[in-house]
Amino acid sequence: MSITAQNVSKRFGDFVALDNVSVECPAGQLVALLGPSGSGKTTLLRIIAGLEEPDTGSVLFKDDDVTRHSAKDRKVGFVFQHYALFKHMTVFENVAFGLRVRKAAEDKVQHRVMELLRLVRLEEKAKHFPGELSGGQRQRIALVRALAPDPEVLLLDEPFGALDAKVRAELRSWLRRFHDEFHVTSIFVTHDQEEAFEVADQVVVMNKGKVEQVGTPIEVFEHPATAFVMDFLGNVNKLPVRVEGGKALLGNSGTVELPTKLFSTNDSGKIDAYIRPHELDISRTAEGGNCMIAKVLHINPAGSVVKVRLMAEDFGLVITVDVTPDRYRLLTLKPTEMVYVTPKSGKIFDGDYAI
Ligand code: ATP
Repeated sequence: MSITAQNVSKRFGDFVALDNVSVECPAGQLVALLGPSGSGKTTLLRIIAGLEEPDTGSVLFKDDDVTRHSAKDRKVGFVFQHYALFKHMTVFENVAFGLRVRKAAEDKVQHRVMELLRLVRLEEKAKHFPGELSGGQRQRIALVRALAPDPEVLLLDEPFGALDAKVRAELRSWLRRFHDEFHVTSIFVTHDQEEAFEVADQVVVMNKGKVEQVGTPIEVFEHPATAFVMDFLGNVNKLPVRVEGGKALLGNSGTVELPTKLFSTNDSGKIDAYIRPHELDISRTAEGGNCMIAKVLHINPAGSVVKVRLMAEDFGLVITVDVTPDRYRLLTLKPTEMVYVTPKSGKIFDGDYAI
């Protein structure tokens, strides 16, 4: 079942939490609402769940306008950040809860609950209480408890936010596996771009109550629509440029040109360029001449790329460059050495257009 939020706005007093937001989650997809704290993700999720009413706009489940339907009538499974398991109930009874509310037959309850517990490999914990489980185990139970009554929609609000990095990573792959198994249309809220990109089919990037971009993880990563998205995704050098005579020149006074196509012929003066670490090259000689002289500050060789931090003093810039391990060995870089850094590409977001 598809979910559509159409022109949804919501104020809390004078504060605009959602400003004319439209989002579509196609049937069977897993969509991530990604954005910084306070961007309106939870408010939108709560409106979709029926826990909050929008001031204007509507929510459709397939073709049904459910805007005025109660949460109970929406057949939504909900997973919160803080487990929200019933402490006084066993694991089995927690998972069975939604089925018992719907007065399912006992043999169906037994079968369904044990099937789900097996899926999360926690069947031996059936008689335990939530307090006897680890955080990751509790959240796996919260996930299957939400899935037990066969919801048509699954909504997850920072489901892994309270867990440590390793457990988070493990639960991400659980969520994706569950999604591939059950195909329940799902929306989950996160402020962690790695999590969104790893798990979701579509990512909705939100900022200050508005949608900045919607796309697949690859689309959003490769073609960030706005400076905000580029910045929020992180791991990017933000360098001042001057746009002059149709060229983007790095630094306030430098002459190094950023090889990027300018669509506007207007000189826009000073603006920020965004250059990802792999879009810069390090060399021992001033190949091609279009380069900055920079001092190596720090080298981090741990990982699939070697991260080199440099200071380009003429430009007053600290830059991060990613080089392949092979290139690193060839360059034999050491801290304090002077090298040349050449931009291969980059992006400028100038008002309405991105270049
Ligand atoms: P976080 O990641 O911190 O949860 P979020 O993107 O989910 O952030 P929301 O929880 O949707 O953001 O909140 C958006 C804004 O609306 C915040 O500034 C918040 O303080 C405000 N807000 C949310 N709920 C209420 C409320 N019931 N009353 C007043 N203000 C609220």
